[in-house]
Amino acid sequence: MGQSFGRANCKDVDVASRVLLIEDDATIGEVLTSSLRSHAHQVFWERTGADGIARAAASAVDLVLLDLGLPDIDGVEVCRQLRRTQPGCVLVMLTARSAEMDVVVGLEAGADDYLVKPIRLAELHARIRAHLRRNEEGSIAPSVRAIGDLVVDVPRRRVTVAGRELRLRPKEFDLLARLAAEPEVAHSRETLMSEVWDEHWFGSTKTLDVHVAALRRKIGEVAAADHAHVPTILTVRGHGYRLQLVAPDAGGTPP
Ligand code: CA
Repeated sequence: MGQSFGRANCKDVDVASRVLLIEDDATIGEVLTSSLRSHAHQVFWERTGADGIARAAASAVDLVLLDLGLPDIDGVEVCRQLRRTQPGCVLVMLTARSAEMDVVVGLEAGADDYLVKPIRLAELHARIRAHLRRNEEGSIAPSVRAIGDLVVDVPRRRVTVAGRELRLRPKEFDLLARLAAEPEVAHSRETLMSEVWDEHWFGSTKTLDVHVAALRRKIGEVAAADHAHVPTILTVRGHGYRLQLVAPDAGGTPP
């Protein structure tokens, strides 16, 4: 088990947590471990995908930093497995592959966020703080909102369609909760990225599109199976997205 470092009153630390680092590169692993510990996080460092998966199963972790280039199992597959077994933890990919397709594949496999190597420590800590603070406090005022047959229960972090619970990843939930807090309002991409992900977001907003696509698919599948009347996430061209309940016979296919 990892060691705990009780420096929670360190000035720039507001959330300390249990971080699982899965990284085979010794130099990067040592730098990240030491930096995370200096920010009061408890760190478990595993060097292979198999050991990382085993560690996640054995120890509750709040956040996983996952290198995509691992010696045994491809990081995307590790991501997929972790997401199945640890639906509630925040999963951040560390990748040398900045090609957009690779990032999208990782996000579709269940990652909440990604950082491209070489990793800047200030950015790493800013992202971790933003993720953990949101996980702890929730980014949206607690409420339960029903829009048609879709119910978004923010205090319990549950979403149901006609009574059937959807399995959403943390950021999918946050995004849907944000849209559902103000249905029929067009939210800009920048607003959604900054409110749901990070106030200092400066990366690709492809993350947003991938999460919207996943929400449309998950809500749509259950709604179709149960003939439920659910709102649609509509694309507002050149601006962003809005959640809108359309008449049951109007199709409701997103543009
Ligand atoms: Ca590697």
